[in-house]
Amino acid sequence: RAKKSGRGRFHLYDPRSGEESRLRQQLEQALRQALLNEQFELHYQPLMDSNRRCIGAEALIRWPSPERGMVAPDRFIPLAEETGMIHAIGDWVLQQALNRLQRWQTELPGFDGYLTINVSPWQFARPDFVTSLHSAIHKSNIPHHRLCLEITEGVLLTDREETIDKLNQLRKLGLMIALDDFGTGYSSLAYLRDLPIDVLKIDRSFISDLQLEAPRHLVDAIISIGRHMNIKTVAEGVETEPQWSHLKSMGCDSFQGYLFSPALNAEAFSRWIRQHQPGSCA
Ligand code: C2E
Ligand code: MG
Ligand code: MG
Ligand code: MG
Repeated sequence: RAKKSGRGRFHLYDPRSGEESRLRQQLEQALRQALLNEQFELHYQPLMDSNRRCIGAEALIRWPSPERGMVAPDRFIPLAEETGMIHAIGDWVLQQALNRLQRWQTELPGFDGYLTINVSPWQFARPDFVTSLHSAIHKSNIPHHRLCLEITEGVLLTDREETIDKLNQLRKLGLMIALDDFGTGYSSLAYLRDLPIDVLKIDRSFISDLQLEAPRHLVDAIISIGRHMNIKTVAEGVETEPQWSHLKSMGCDSFQGYLFSPALNAEAFSRWIRQHQPGSCA
């Protein structure tokens, strides 16, 4: 089984495969070191509105490993979740994001975009998640509405009532909540019914198939559900002009993808904003 998934995947344990488990242990060891040495970086991918103005950015973690090159989050986040390291990584991401928002206030004073961070279900499940988030934001002196949390359907794998309660508390604090990768789970409509959210991120797999009839109808339907439920829709993975104009004509609110920009390191992001939105900078 492990073989079929290809080399370089470490989240499958096959007790029969000593090689897999050895590689996984090595990666785990390296990840611990990376955490200790603060080897991670946060990169920022612009989020655009229908006038092609940047209204925010998604923070995406990067691990430039001296030995392995740039390790993609899909490779190490699952491992971090299995080993519990996700808590320390998640804390780091939050603090880094808050620091960045602070710096934007001085570096990009006219840019009032928001920053959205990915929150693992494991982090979210922590009993002190809301209070510790609240105190971190409070200390940083950032307006709450400049931070958005991206959750996935995985948050509902734990206590449903408690999850909804936490989401309501977070929204009361003024934070935005986005449901990430929408459409890829198993009962997306039930989640939409139950979860108090502000933003729906339509999974990239639908956007890349937009030229096909069925995905197009689905995206159209998702956007109109969003409109009726007063939930903003974001299209992920917009790569071409035709995709973009199509999504705009369907009424999608915001857009993210390589058509506009990939995720950029902090310095490159600031440069990008200055170049693309000179009006929004001092
Ligand atoms: P995601 O949250 O759905 O993030 C979007 C992913 O799509 C990012 O991959 C982004 O680089 C990629 N992407 C953006 N535009 C395009 C496009 O036009 N075409 C294509 N093909 N891809 C595009 P990335 O950065 O590799 O992140 C992968 C996943 O890792 C994220 O999916 C998220 O689930 C997770 N992740 C990333 N950063 C963090 C983090 O700080 N914490 C946690 N818990 N998870 C994270
Ligand atoms: Mg995301
Ligand atoms: Mg996503
Ligand atoms: Mg994802």
